[in-house]
This record gives sequence, C-alpha cells and structure tokens, in this order.
Amino acid sequence: MTTDQGIDVTTTAEDDNAELLIGPELTEAESRTAFAPDDSDASTEDEARMVRIPDADLAAPAGPALRVRPWHLARSLARLRAEIDQRWPNRDRKSDGSIGDKDHEKTASDHNPNGRSSVNAIDTDKDGISPMTLVEAAKRHPACNYVIFNRVIYTRDRGFRAHRYSGPNPHTQHIHVSILQNSAAEESTRPWGIAQASFPAFPGTLRRGSRGSAVKTLQTRLNERGFPRLGVDGEFGPATEDRVKAFQRFAKIAVDGIAGPVTWRLLWTLPR
Ligand SMILES: [Zn+2]
Repeated sequence: MTTDQGIDVTTTAEDDNAELLIGPELTEAESRTAFAPDDSDASTEDEARMVRIPDADLAAPAGPALRVRPWHLARSLARLRAEIDQRWPNRDRKSDGSIGDKDHEKTASDHNPNGRSSVNAIDTDKDGISPMTLVEAAKRHPACNYVIFNRVIYTRDRGFRAHRYSGPNPHTQHIHVSILQNSAAEESTRPWGIAQASFPAFPGTLRRGSRGSAVKTLQTRLNERGFPRLGVDGEFGPATEDRVKAFQRFAKIAVDGIAGPVTWRLLWTLPR
C-alpha cells in the first residue's frame, strides 16, 4: 500500500524490543561463523512492516494518511544514512526503514517517535553494502545504543560484545541501528566513519626497522592525527612504534606497534 505522498506504508511488525531478547554472549568461534546470513528463513513479511523512506532527509509528512505523530529522523541517523548512501550508492534499499507503524506504537521500539518527535533507529538493507563495516562503525559511534544483525545483538551496556539475539525477526536482511534516547545522541554531527575519503594504498606491513617513503607517509599521518610529534625521517624506530601503539589503543584494536592493513586503513578512516 502506498500513500498519496508515495510512501509505502505496508504494515507488519519488526520486533526491536531488544531488552527482552538478548541471549548468551557468543563464543569466539561462534562470532566467527555468525556472519554468514542464512536467507532461507528471512521473513519478507516481517521486513515489509516498516514504513519505507526513499530519502533520509525527507521531511516527515504528518497527517491522517500516515496516522503517526509528526516526526523526524534523528540528525545523527540521517547522517549515518547519508554516509551509507555515499559509500554504496547502488545498494538495495528494499529492507530500509525508519519509522514504525501504528502497531509498532504499542511496543517500545526506537522506530517510534519519542517525546522530542525523534525517531532513533534505522534499518539498512544488507544487500549491496558490507554489513559488518556498518556494524563495526556503529559500535564505535558515541551515539549508538545497540545494533542487531543476523541473529546477533551488540549493546552499549554490554560493551558491544556479540550476544545471541532471539527476537522473532532474525535481522538477516537488514542491520538495525538504535541510538541512545537523549538529545545529545540525536543531534550528534560526528561522522560515523563510513563515507570517508580514500586512503593511500597499503604499502605492506611496516614495523620496527622498516624504512622508506611509506614510513614517512605513516609518520606524517600519525602527526596529523595529533599524537606527540614525530620527525618525518622514514625510519621506523621506537618513537614511531610508540605512536602506532597509541593509535591502536585509541582504535581499540590489537596493540602490537606494527602497522598492518587494518591499522593503515583506520589511520585514515577512523573518526577522531
Ligand atoms: Zn529495526
């Protein structure tokens, strides 16, 4: 069903009442295998229950046709969606959603407008994007409260560690991102680190004893990121190693003082 504003209001319900549906924490082995979505039992009926919004910045049409209160998508989530669209312009938007429907209002869902008329959750279709890139970026953002994807939930109050999600909708077709219910989280303009300028090609692993122009590029970038200033001499010595470790601690990745592909990419793409 489509309203005269051209908005699809087909109704069914996704269950995002996450508080009640958190299962055990995943073991390391489980987390490794948890991310191969099994499409066979994804419920398209459940997926269809969201009101779809073709454009994140679309002003919310309020009124009898939609039977919802006036609302707007939280600014931080509008930014997230814009970053997703910038990075993956040709992605599938079929399972996207922002606002809940009338049925949703009976449940405590972040898809319903809150007292500030803010909708604090979005769903993003998993097709045509890298779902785990979105999950990892969301976990690092200070506004994020929880993320659900592929039967796994990551919540702020559990340090964003992976836990089994046992809600009726397994979230195999979309990634759900909820932000905290406060105006600071809603109004945050901080980048999510998804749409970032490109970064220099990874030159191969750099470590103590490496030398050359790639080390100069690394030292320059460490300086740009505000760590205690290094001389840009192309020699990967103890001071460079120290800054790489400091960055790895900041990025919450393994602290080994070696600039491998992950450290290299994050040096350019991780929001400060
Ligand atoms: Zn959702």
